[in-house]
This record gives sequence, structure tokens and C-alpha cells, in this order.
Amino acid sequence: MNKLDYQAQSQWAYGAGKQQSPIALETVPQNILEAADFLEWQGPYYVQDVCDNGNNLLLHGQGHARLDQRLFHLVQLHFHAPAEHTINGELRAMEWHFVHTDAIGKTAVVAVSAVIGRPNPQFEQILAQYETGKLTTFAETILVTSLLPTTGLIYHYVGSLTTPPLIEGVEWYVAEKPFTISQEQLERYQQFFPKTNNRTLQPLNDRQVMQYDLGSND
Ligand SMILES: [Zn+2]
Repeated sequence: MNKLDYQAQSQWAYGAGKQQSPIALETVPQNILEAADFLEWQGPYYVQDVCDNGNNLLLHGQGHARLDQRLFHLVQLHFHAPAEHTINGELRAMEWHFVHTDAIGKTAVVAVSAVIGRPNPQFEQILAQYETGKLTTFAETILVTSLLPTTGLIYHYVGSLTTPPLIEGVEWYVAEKPFTISQEQLERYQQFFPKTNNRTLQPLNDRQVMQYDLGSND
């Protein structure tokens, strides 16, 4: 598989559209819509294998959700370090992309970012599995349900994949609220993936970013 050169992003193919990702996200308090049912997780989310696709750590998984009232299924989860979207000017340590598809092949990505703090138990399980060097199906699936956003603000807009072919028409659901990983976990991850894999910010152009507040209670 071809490795992407993040130092030469301007030479990536197909990136010339007007609806590219990632973008800079800013909270506009007067535009926040209350929508407790905007993201509905239907049962557990889990990952059952891990692969190194050359650019990031990617895990195939399963899970079902209603995103903005429509049914989507988890396909895979992968990592960017540092994060790709900025949130109110902040570029966080990591961004995890839960890539979903629906029955007609539409892609929706739920993005959750990580900041440095307490270690994350799910990341620990994933790192431990990766460190075994056995890139096969896990003996036990890893539950990642607790990482999905259930409270706080969600930014929603239409953009693109952030790796070539940079296909547009991708629905983004980016959580404002981060989870934590420890510095030690990040450094272990960086032993395997020392190069940064975040695409540079893209212009917003004619797009609108919606903001939905899921509320404060689970
Ligand atoms: Zn991604």
C-alpha cells in the first residue's frame, strides 16, 4: 500500500473540490440547536481486528447508530495524530474517526478528539493488541461504546475524506468534548507511527457548520 506523504499534501490527487475536510470549527453560542436525539447509539460499538495500512492504525468494527435520524453502520475506526479539525483554535493530541456507511453507501464520520490526561482504557487495549505484532482478529473484541459522544456539542457539516481520493459528500459529526489519553500512551503510539498524519485545514467556502447540543445527561 502506498504511504501518504503528509509533507507534500498539495500534491495529493483529487483535493481541488470546494467541500474539503478538515476545517477550523468555532463555537457560535447563538446558533446552537438543542437536539438530544441528534446522535442515537443503538447497542454496543466494538472493534475486532487491527491493521496497519501504512498511514495510520485502523480497526474494523461493528456498531449501529441513527445519525440525524438515519441509520448508519460502523465500518472502521482509525487514528490521526495530531488531530485534524481544530476546535476554537485548539489542535488536540489525537482525533479518532469512526467511519460509518448507510444502506446506499453514504459515508458519515463521527470524530472524537483526545487531549493528554488520564490514560484511556480502550486505547490501552488497542495499543496492547497492536504491540503483540499480531495484526489479526482479536481474541476478544474491544468495546469502544464509551468513547462515543452522548453529551455536549456536535459540529455537523458536509466535507470530504481527509486522505486521497478525498471524496466529497461525507457527513461529519465532530464532538467538541474530548476524552483523555495519557502522554505515555501517546508516546507508545508514536513509536509505531512517528510521522504526523493530519491533513492541513481546508477552506470553509460556502458551507454552513451546524451545532447541536446533545445535553448534559447521558
Ligand atoms: Zn480519518
